[in-house]
Amino acid sequence: MVPKTTGNRPFLRYVFDVSDTGTRKNSRPVNLWAMKDEYVPAVQEALERYAADYGSTVLYSSARNEYAITRMGRILTRTVLTLQKHLHRGSFRPESFELSFQHADNLESINVSLSEQEKLRLRGRIDRIDVAEDGEHVYVKVIDYKSGHRRFDLAALYYGLQLQLVVYMNAAQEVEAGRYGDKEIVPAALLYYRIDDPAVETPVELTEEEIEEEIGKQLRMNGVVNGTPGIVELLDRDMEAKSDIIPVERKKDGTFSARSSVLSGEELRTVSDYVSRKVAEIGREILDGTISLNPYEKGSVEACTYCAFKKVCGFEPAMPGCEKRRLEDLDREEALRRMEER
Ligand code: SF4
Repeated sequence: MVPKTTGNRPFLRYVFDVSDTGTRKNSRPVNLWAMKDEYVPAVQEALERYAADYGSTVLYSSARNEYAITRMGRILTRTVLTLQKHLHRGSFRPESFELSFQHADNLESINVSLSEQEKLRLRGRIDRIDVAEDGEHVYVKVIDYKSGHRRFDLAALYYGLQLQLVVYMNAAQEVEAGRYGDKEIVPAALLYYRIDDPAVETPVELTEEEIEEEIGKQLRMNGVVNGTPGIVELLDRDMEAKSDIIPVERKKDGTFSARSSVLSGEELRTVSDYVSRKVAEIGREILDGTISLNPYEKGSVEACTYCAFKKVCGFEPAMPGCEKRRLEDLDREEALRRMEER
């Protein structure tokens, strides 16, 4: 975790490798996943260590910054508690934290061949890879930590706007294939976890247990899950009609409801192959110098809204030749159909 202080107040940039608590039991380091109540002081101590590294004068320089540090402590504690709960509910164990592509440069999915002489090398870092095993398979879950809400959008993925999580899964599968050569590697879930300590608004008084339950629901992970029988149970063995840790709910007949974010194993393969082709296509366009001013607009989302180049790029919608690409919304089936066709 890193409290970042480059702006005018500190904020929490990451919570990743929580294996290093500085605590030891029988000379072995204890990681936060395995700690019970003692994780609270461990989190607080770790935060204070980092605060000291950053220079306590900066981080404690004003009441506002001090409040930010207190809030970070609350968010971190909530995050560890929730992630512990998620792990205890399933059969997965964390295997890699903050895996940088720099240290995995032998992977095909991040060293994309564009021609015999040309390669596109992707940069990135997978926040967490978890695995679960049975006799023949290794199931892989990738988690991307976010500070805001994020949902898995197949249409955005089709247009090349949301490739990151699938690129991470493709890379994670290669990494795990290298580790468990004799087993079949199966993508189980591609998930976003929102780092927050949300407040619960309610018109009636709730017990502490009910408040915790509400917070847990708000911190349910988004993303997409492999619907192959047995995999949901590996992710959440206590799930009844609706999981409060993964985006899955079942109808009375046992099938997944329309609100679930589930793909079959075959559909996940389609998405994975499509993303590999799309990355190569984008790489080709970059090398060919395709840099036309043609920003997208999809529903209420526009490429230009937060773009850092806005002041210099010269895009002016009123000028001839400056056109936005209006991307039509696609339902799940149509997005998958188009991915198969390309
Ligand atoms: S502001 Fe300019 S560079 Fe940025 S997305 Fe819009 S058109 Fe492209």
